[in-house]
Amino acid sequence: MSGYERPVAAAGGLRLHLNENTAGCSPTVLEAIASLGAEDMAFYPEYAEVVRETAEYLGVDPEWLALTNGLDEGLLAATVAAVRPIVEAGGGRQPEIVVPLPAFDMYAVCARACGAALVEVPPRPDLRFQADALIGAITPATRVVFITSPNNPTGIRIRLEDVDRVAEAVPEGSLVVVDEAYHDFCGDTALPLVRTRQNVVVGRTFAKAHGLAALRAGCLIGQPATLEGIRLVVPPYSLNVCAAAGLRAAIADRARLTWYVDQVERSRDLVYAFCTRIGLTFWESGANFVLVRIGSRSAAVAGALAERGIFVRDRSRDAGCEGCIRITTGIVEHTTRCLAALEEILCAEA
Ligand SMILES: *Cc1c(COP(=O)(O)O)cnc(C)c1O
Repeated sequence: MSGYERPVAAAGGLRLHLNENTAGCSPTVLEAIASLGAEDMAFYPEYAEVVRETAEYLGVDPEWLALTNGLDEGLLAATVAAVRPIVEAGGGRQPEIVVPLPAFDMYAVCARACGAALVEVPPRPDLRFQADALIGAITPATRVVFITSPNNPTGIRIRLEDVDRVAEAVPEGSLVVVDEAYHDFCGDTALPLVRTRQNVVVGRTFAKAHGLAALRAGCLIGQPATLEGIRLVVPPYSLNVCAAAGLRAAIADRARLTWYVDQVERSRDLVYAFCTRIGLTFWESGANFVLVRIGSRSAAVAGALAERGIFVRDRSRDAGCEGCIRITTGIVEHTTRCLAALEEILCAEA
């Protein structure tokens, strides 16, 4: 059994392998943390302000928001909350977690953590989201369906009507978790569905666009009654005081976010133009990365980039992603460096 894969990168390299914010967080985040005092460290944190400000930022009422220690914790909490009633009822069929492939590793980790069966829906060759195949994998034992929009590792955006059809198809008491870790890079959201459907929960993280991956701050958005069961799973002081203070500062600095999202858009366009010129297949992305098909030498190419201190992710082991690398598209100067090195490597090969 493999766990959550944690790729290593040498210190000082260009990290384009984990979809992190390559510009770092807003300087205001550091100021907010530096301004905390000895008692702030000693006392259990208060969340009233960070919850109110984050809810306002997201455009929801505070009762519709659960802050979590990174979105990863939210995904796990939602899974446990959906599986628990089955365990409590005793007997019956093993709970199932349904995941369309290719998918973020964490969903398999969540399924395993609570003894549920992982039901994986194989991808089409073009990796497009296929609502019908996903709906076909739903059974009376389904407890959670994970949908990632935009998808990781493909960057493919998923239509709201497809999410709605899946939400219509799941059995009562189960959840459709729409993981919107990359929402900021395209603006797509299933929040309108959350308002009408009690079984839809949206996940967001401040790790990617806001650059707080190491601080750990994420959240779930759902109807208050749905979140009630999930709140029972999240420990009461899940966000540490630095994460709470950093999150408040990060969401207040909207100019920084706008600037970074613009850098990402330009970087994606650079990758598309590069691929078109070189003749490489790529997937148009709604996220801060682009999946590029290199071919059978993808691992060697990723290795050659790593030798130059540029880390990208070979995704060949993901279903449907054979021969593909995923390149984080952060600040333009980093993308340009990566593409120049990639061109050298590919030309040397040819
Ligand atoms: C990065 C990522 C997350 C994890 O977010 P954290 O807040 O760092 O836990 C969740 N889902 C997807 C699809 C991601 O890519």
